Amino acid sequence: MRKVLVLGGGLTGLVTAEQLGRQGVEVCVLERLAEPGGACRSLTEGRFVFDLTGHLLHIARPETERYLDDLGILDAFAVHERRAAVVVGGRTTPYPIQINTFGLSDEVRRDCLLGFIRAWSGDSGSAPADFREWVLDRFGEGLARHFFFPYNRKLYRAEPEELSLDWVGRYVPKPDLKEVVDGALGLHRGAVGYNAVFRYPSQGGIRRLPDAIAARVPGLRLGKTVTAVAPRERWVELEDGERVAYSDLVSTISLPVLLDLIDGELPPGVASARRALRWVQVVNVALGVRGRAPSSEHWLYFADPAVPFYRVGFPSNHGRLAPRGSHTVSLEVSLDPGAGDVATVAGKAEAALTAAGLLDPGQVRVRRVSVLDPAYVVFDHARKGAVAVIRRYLSEIGITIAGRWAEWKYSAMEDAILDGMAAARRVGRKAAR
Ligand SMILES: Cc1cc2nc3c(=O)[nH]c(=O)nc-3n(C[C@H](O)[C@H](O)[C@H](O)COP(=O)(O)OP(=O)(O)OC[C@H]3O[C@@H](n4cnc5c(N)ncnc54)[C@H](O)[C@@H]3O)c2cc1C
Repeated sequence: MRKVLVLGGGLTGLVTAEQLGRQGVEVCVLERLAEPGGACRSLTEGRFVFDLTGHLLHIARPETERYLDDLGILDAFAVHERRAAVVVGGRTTPYPIQINTFGLSDEVRRDCLLGFIRAWSGDSGSAPADFREWVLDRFGEGLARHFFFPYNRKLYRAEPEELSLDWVGRYVPKPDLKEVVDGALGLHRGAVGYNAVFRYPSQGGIRRLPDAIAARVPGLRLGKTVTAVAPRERWVELEDGERVAYSDLVSTISLPVLLDLIDGELPPGVASARRALRWVQVVNVALGVRGRAPSSEHWLYFADPAVPFYRVGFPSNHGRLAPRGSHTVSLEVSLDPGAGDVATVAGKAEAALTAAGLLDPGQVRVRRVSVLDPAYVVFDHARKGAVAVIRRYLSEIGITIAGRWAEWKYSAMEDAILDGMAAARRVGRKAAR
């Protein structure tokens, strides 16, 4: 009998194992934490519930909806129309900014409109080679200078010309001239873009989703940290020295961590591809605060380089996550791995939120600071080639990778579910042979 080992009990690993279990394949999931869910966990402090930054479910594919229905969890999710805004120069306007400049100051709005019209009517003559050229070509100089460049610098801790175009298509909506002009006059109604509508559990936080899947996962072993992987001998070693043998291995843990766990030296090309992988971590400051939320938005983007966080959310505006008369706040600060003292970073973020008039520090009842590492893969020009080299190597040594950080990409919870299903199909076919 073949035995499939899944490294990591986040959404991707749980779905992989749940699907393999349905096929009657023997499967074991090794998860280092004491609870399943990975980045989709929710933490409880008294009567406050905090996700690890906003985790809102966008469903684009019918099979995802069917899957959630089958798990009996679909009805636990309420559907919300996004309320999100962008703050530029202290003025707030709805997201996405490119079709909503009406809330900005006259000078900024003029820059954005003129820049867009010049870009729209000009012809650069060649396809954009990097994110900087792409933004200038598509949105113009004003929107680039006031929002896209400072915001993405803050999030990815990289200059716009260092970023490739491999991630942008689906996530940054492209407007036409009428939309931009209407947006400068405030004529749009309703939300647009890939995340115009989202689902979120009415109560209990996003962990309801991984918990529902984990309940159906056979062989889930929690509190088991993998410390070595021996692909030739086909075993993994745990922190306590236990060795677990496998016939097939699926890894959902982050790509650099997996490579560092592989027993013996990596081939030189793979080692240098590993060194080329670049990412940022995110410090998440979650606050439980007495009083009404200072904004009815679900979240706000901040482009200003002087403000340390790139986004602030008010999660209790979309779920029952705080006791009556209180609200929750979620701040996100992006950092280079290992840079900055987390407590200092968190303190500065809270101070900036206070300065922005969005927090009364005397009303903070509960504070939880977490670090997501890795959080965002940096899509620099080296990423694609490096990932191709690593993938080829892992395939040669019989390791399947699945999920956002295992495949070193940008993706969401729905993708994690679909990635888990695809991995289970691939490995299940092999296991059946
Ligand atoms: C800031 C931020 C905001 C996001 N917001 C959204 C959103 O609004 N909507 C959305 O759809 N998606 C969102 N996402 C994406 C979403 O979090 C991911 O798509 C999803 O969680 C990926 O799940 P995963 O199982 O692939 O990875 P993970 O959740 O990271 O699971 C991997 C698991 O491996 C475990 N592990 C690691 N090392 C070891 C080891 N040595 N031994 C054993 N176990 C190990 C970890 O503990 C973890 O549980 C967001 C992500 C971030 C960073």
